[in-house]
Amino acid sequence: MSKFFSYKYKNLTPYTPGEQPKEREYIKLNTNESPFPPSNKAIELAKAELSKLQLYPDPDVKELTALVAQEVGVAKECVIMTNGSDEILNFAFMAYCDNDNPAIFPDISYGFYKVFAEINNIPYKEIPLREDFSVCVDDYIGTKGTVFIANPNAPTGLNLPLTEIERLVKADTNRVVVIDEAYVDFGGDSAVKLVDKYDNLIVTQTFSKSRSMAGARLGFGVANKDIIADLMAIKYSTNPYNVNKMTAAAGVGAILDKEYFTENCRTIIENREWVKGELNKLGFSVTDSKTNFVFAKTDKIDGKKLYLALKDRGVLVRHFDKDKIKEYNRITIGTIKQMQVLINTIKSILEEEK
Ligand code: PMP
Repeated sequence: MSKFFSYKYKNLTPYTPGEQPKEREYIKLNTNESPFPPSNKAIELAKAELSKLQLYPDPDVKELTALVAQEVGVAKECVIMTNGSDEILNFAFMAYCDNDNPAIFPDISYGFYKVFAEINNIPYKEIPLREDFSVCVDDYIGTKGTVFIANPNAPTGLNLPLTEIERLVKADTNRVVVIDEAYVDFGGDSAVKLVDKYDNLIVTQTFSKSRSMAGARLGFGVANKDIIADLMAIKYSTNPYNVNKMTAAAGVGAILDKEYFTENCRTIIENREWVKGELNKLGFSVTDSKTNFVFAKTDKIDGKKLYLALKDRGVLVRHFDKDKIKEYNRITIGTIKQMQVLINTIKSILEEEK
């Protein structure tokens, strides 16, 4: 750190993204990317933009916004497109949190929430998950501040029923609730249908996982039009061209190719259920994940040791050095072939442990 770095950031601990190693070919199951390439339609439309890169992109991302609005069933004034869903989440921290409205989120959830709070100098409160890793909505009701809940949650994979989300949103309509639905397409139940009913709800989603576009950086927020106007004000005050031309075009292609999206989600769900079954047979306890990853532990081998042994054998998963979850590993669901290699590798590691 240089001596010039502002005092505002002296306590900042940046987010640690999952490893993207280059030194060796891994079966990469550590960052919840899709094992499938983007839709051909997305590739084709993105390519066509390459020869127009001398021009700025449309700051309103109009064509894609209209398509996304139609896809999720809201008016186009109720959608904002962003540079990954990380950006819409950051916008929500900027717009709806301050000293009077601290950020409130579960103690085990997406690690970036804490960083968004820190970079924006926002006080925050972490509410412990229940023993079984579920979110207890009653622990949030009656608190003061802006709530951020990933649903399904990460890294646990657990889904909170929509009735519980509604109970939380309805309990205090004078505060904003942000539901981060990065993984909703793999079996969750989207709160987007509640947006017309509650003007204090923001739902965020991403093209990174279910639409195979993590590298393009595309996400969006859905909310009441007044909330979207606030978020637009933040966007136009930070980075009006937040979605580049190629990404916007790829997004259009991805939405138009619904069949590819549906088929890929179906395959991931099928592979996930297969992996759960195989891990159970090997003596693992696995949470009831509704995402594109599983969260698993076994008393046959320490969580970190398993992570390192898998890495040594060319399979990369994600381990968190955090007290309550250090026995677990988060494993992204890949192709069935990758999953077979994973299971066979775990079998041989456990064999050696005996
Ligand atoms: N929310 C959750 C819960 C996530 O796990 C991620 C992915 N790391 C994101 C949001 C952000 O994803 P992206 O910026 O790629 O849309």
